Amino acid sequence: MPNDPKHGGPACPRCGYDLRGAIDTWQEACPIEGICTECGLRFAWREILSSRFTMPHWCIEAKRGALAVPRQVAGTAARTWWPWAFWSGLHMTHLTRWRRLALYYGLLLVILYLMFAGSHAILAWSYWHRLASNRSYTVTTSGWPVVMQAGLTPFSNRSVGFFKASNLGRWPYQTPLTLVKVYWRELPPSLLLPLAMHACCGLAFAALPVTRRRCKVRWSHIVRVNLYGYALLFGPFAMTILAVGAQEAPLPSGIPMSLAIFTWILFVPWEICWWSVATSTYLRMPHAWGVGIAVVMIGALLPLTVAARIWVAF
Ligand SMILES: [Zn+2]
Repeated sequence: MPNDPKHGGPACPRCGYDLRGAIDTWQEACPIEGICTECGLRFAWREILSSRFTMPHWCIEAKRGALAVPRQVAGTAARTWWPWAFWSGLHMTHLTRWRRLALYYGLLLVILYLMFAGSHAILAWSYWHRLASNRSYTVTTSGWPVVMQAGLTPFSNRSVGFFKASNLGRWPYQTPLTLVKVYWRELPPSLLLPLAMHACCGLAFAALPVTRRRCKVRWSHIVRVNLYGYALLFGPFAMTILAVGAQEAPLPSGIPMSLAIFTWILFVPWEICWWSVATSTYLRMPHAWGVGIAVVMIGALLPLTVAARIWVAF
């Protein structure tokens, strides 16, 4: 069966109600559509009964072999930014594969780490290049050790060696600590805010007193919507990391950071779209846009209040 009823038989995909009783009433023919008597959900019986209606190939939860995983990670993350495409493909009838979701976020974190390491390599190389191209100094060491160490150990302050610049003395291969402080000291708290906001949106959705209970939505569906939504943050995080690396690179100043800020501004309306489309298309609940706006407003208010209190305290 495509869903995961506790009793091992066909069940309503939204509330988990046992549908075996409805099937027992079929004598000579079966209907195309059914309605759950518990939560009122309309569904196509083919989705409940046939394993042919499996989840879409682009989704990370579809088991397509190891070679397909990179394409699935890209396909799933890209569709997160177009929730209409995402939720029209993934349905409540599709069994949730939590391990595949864990793999998805593990790989997204690996990509972010590699970007972070690359960003540090660019910072360190740009600094080395600035000294090497300045005629006042003579830099005696190649730039490769600088790039290698800053990229391989972006979190470390220890340097395995030093490059020498006349009149300036020795400089570590590692990203200069001053640059790390300049670009990363202010950013982590502001990056935590949208993370907390998305988590609070999930809590706000779970706490919706009337709409959610009337529709008897199972917790696992809300957790699934919330978890997939975290990928909305991947774009802004990635742009911020790239923008930090580009600050010392010979690029038109300000453009990468402006792009990063633009993606953060887009995050809030996209968060509303995410929850609203998931409410209507995936959970098939009424008043979807009202629910989406309410969830994001409540979700934003809590972390902003905490941040404001911390800011006032300091
Ligand atoms: Zn139901």
